[in-house]
Amino acid sequence: MYYTVVPGDTLWAIAQRFGLTLQELINMNPQITNPNVLSPGMMIIVKKVVYLTVDDGPGGISTELMLLLLEKFRNHNIKATFFMLDGNMRSYPDLVRRMVAEGHSVGLHGVTHDNEVFYASKESVLGEMDQAQETLREITGVTSYLIRTPYGSSPGMTDEYKQAVAERGYKMWDWNVDTEDWRYQDERYVNHTIEQLEALDPTSNAVVLMHDYLYTTQYLPLLLDSLISSGYEFRRLTEDLPPLQFPTA
Ligand SMILES: [Zn+2]
Repeated sequence: MYYTVVPGDTLWAIAQRFGLTLQELINMNPQITNPNVLSPGMMIIVKKVVYLTVDDGPGGISTELMLLLLEKFRNHNIKATFFMLDGNMRSYPDLVRRMVAEGHSVGLHGVTHDNEVFYASKESVLGEMDQAQETLREITGVTSYLIRTPYGSSPGMTDEYKQAVAERGYKMWDWNVDTEDWRYQDERYVNHTIEQLEALDPTSNAVVLMHDYLYTTQYLPLLLDSLISSGYEFRRLTEDLPPLQFPTA
């Protein structure tokens, strides 16, 4: 979110107005070379929002460690969104309940995670999401319409499939930052993520794809510390937000 400088503004006054410290505002605006000279009409970034989304779980101990870590950062109010597979929810129902109790968003990632099976027809797409929705409801009492399709919506989701899930009320989310934690399997995913965040248009919210793998959690404090010092606000996905989706191929 941008703020346009008016005559008489100071960085300090702008920081105050948006509930930021001066340092946070400076960190968010590396383009400002001299904080004492602000010209009217200049655009200043006053808010950056990041949505952490965690796919494929819950995965047992690795998910438990991630939840513990997010709780440790509770002063920064870091809530994530978990897109979960039906079988994994059945294997670890306590972890699913804990996500809800700790204020995270819970969404659906289908059943098979198999491209050919999932994307076979609009009935298979809806069938997998409906089954995962029912399982989540049995476990938590929560009916979620947040979905992410396996490997993202492109190229599997045809216009017909997209229309079918939208008609069922589902909100389909892709991402604009990919940690590629599955590829790196170590701390390299952190820099890879930060580079993409820095390249993103600052007016667009960041939706970060990650997984609840052990090595992702192991280096997650590095990523979180970096995002916190860059002034990001962490939010969870909710059904009232307009979903971010890949452009149609
Ligand atoms: Zn997945």
